[in-house]
Amino acid sequence: MTDFLSVINPATEELIKEIPVDDEAAVAKKAISARNAQGAWAAKPLSERLKPIEAFSQLLVQKADTLAATMTAETGKPISQAKSEILATPQRIDFFVENVAQVMAAQTVHHEPWSALPGTGQLEEILAYDPLGVIANISAWNYPYFVGSNVFIPALLTGNTVLYKPSEIATMTGLAIADLLYESGIPEDVFIPVLGAGLTGAALLEQPIDGVFFTGSYATGQKIAIAAAPKLIKVQLELGGKDPAYVCEDVEVAIAAASLADGAFYNNGQSCCAVERIYVHSDVYDDFIEAFLKTVETFTLGDPTQPDTYLGPLSRKPQIDVLTAQVSDALSKGATLRCGGKPVDQPFSLRGVYFSPTVLTEVTHDMAVMKAETFGPVIGIQKVESDREAIALMNDTDYGLTAAVYCQERGRATQILSQVNSGSAYWNCCDRVSPKLPWTGRGHSGMGATLSAEGIRTFLQPRGWHLRTG
Ligand code: NAD
Repeated sequence: MTDFLSVINPATEELIKEIPVDDEAAVAKKAISARNAQGAWAAKPLSERLKPIEAFSQLLVQKADTLAATMTAETGKPISQAKSEILATPQRIDFFVENVAQVMAAQTVHHEPWSALPGTGQLEEILAYDPLGVIANISAWNYPYFVGSNVFIPALLTGNTVLYKPSEIATMTGLAIADLLYESGIPEDVFIPVLGAGLTGAALLEQPIDGVFFTGSYATGQKIAIAAAPKLIKVQLELGGKDPAYVCEDVEVAIAAASLADGAFYNNGQSCCAVERIYVHSDVYDDFIEAFLKTVETFTLGDPTQPDTYLGPLSRKPQIDVLTAQVSDALSKGATLRCGGKPVDQPFSLRGVYFSPTVLTEVTHDMAVMKAETFGPVIGIQKVESDREAIALMNDTDYGLTAAVYCQERGRATQILSQVNSGSAYWNCCDRVSPKLPWTGRGHSGMGATLSAEGIRTFLQPRGWHLRTG
């Protein structure tokens, strides 16, 4: 009997669609197709792999409105933010397109007359790269175009075939991505969507794949690493964060507050690199909180299909329990609630799960809100007396995705940030990703890197050629 995945609009709790789930047999069949197609795909000249990817990039722009509407319907992401994500994805694709040839290029690393054995030939040593083969791309729902294309674009360009499991919360978007790739000229057995939730993901890991590239939570990432371990295949994990920001005493308070409020609440705080805790020097603490709250008041919460909505519904209903528990834990331990703190009574005719933007102050590291990933519109702001104290608190986490410092001098910022264990370091900015820099987490934030040249090479395996003539 076929199982179905129910796609629910989180803004209205209405059923949008039922999508058949791939059972184990279907997953196995798809894995065989991807295996059979891989050799021919890798054997094509790079130009023939580049062409459809460039066409895909153009189609994203042409169809941005329709694609954004689908993403908003199934994830609740405000329409303006959904469209921004889609329209920014071609910048990442451009980076891969422009750099893949150079990263993949074989290099002669040594060349000499061969004299160790009888004969008079030449010895050439070449470092070359082969694709991994068939890779599984198990993806998250919060930025399906960004986190998806970070993986499947360079994987395809480097000659891998891809078994792509979109999140169960972004399945329609996953199918739209597949349709667009096919329309662009990617063969249907080169990029294959695998549909379903965790069980389907687990079934995918049972297949004879050559690598798994996962974006999601630490808890699932750990399961993936354990399941993949006996296969000794490449495992890359892009996981969650508890990203800190430190505001020094010499900042322009209003500017820092506006930047950090956006970093904390954009996409309802449902970003891996959302600012999740803020440390503020005592000299500017009160002013900063006042400015921060002023910015939060300007955020429009409501119907995600409306262009001026900044905060939509939570994409996942159960997250309301996580947020409510973090707020009540903090309040029971002495935090002050400055705004929000609970689900919103709908001021509009929608039934979805909305949580009001929440700011907690007088927080400490005894509270879950300062230690566990929140992944929602809740932020804790803590007073500190020195750079040293801020560094110690920023490092008091198992995660290590990003960290930010707001201050006047670049030297002070880099000095502080170089002592904080994070994959990305920001001075006077936050919650940003560049295609030219590696996107990488430390500790519970994952292992490996996407984007940058590292994010292309990760889909390749090196081979040393020892070539002797004569
Ligand atoms: P999740 O871990 O719940 O799910 C991620 C994917 O794993 C989904 O496709 C899901 O179906 C699949 N899955 C679940 N159980 C599985 C299993 N046992 N075996 C195989 N696959 C399984 O994460 P989510 O809710 O989709 O995403 C939110 C999390 O992702 C947050 O923690 C966020 O910080 C993180 N994230 C990280 C990055 C990054 O770049 N570091 C980017 C986006 C999101």
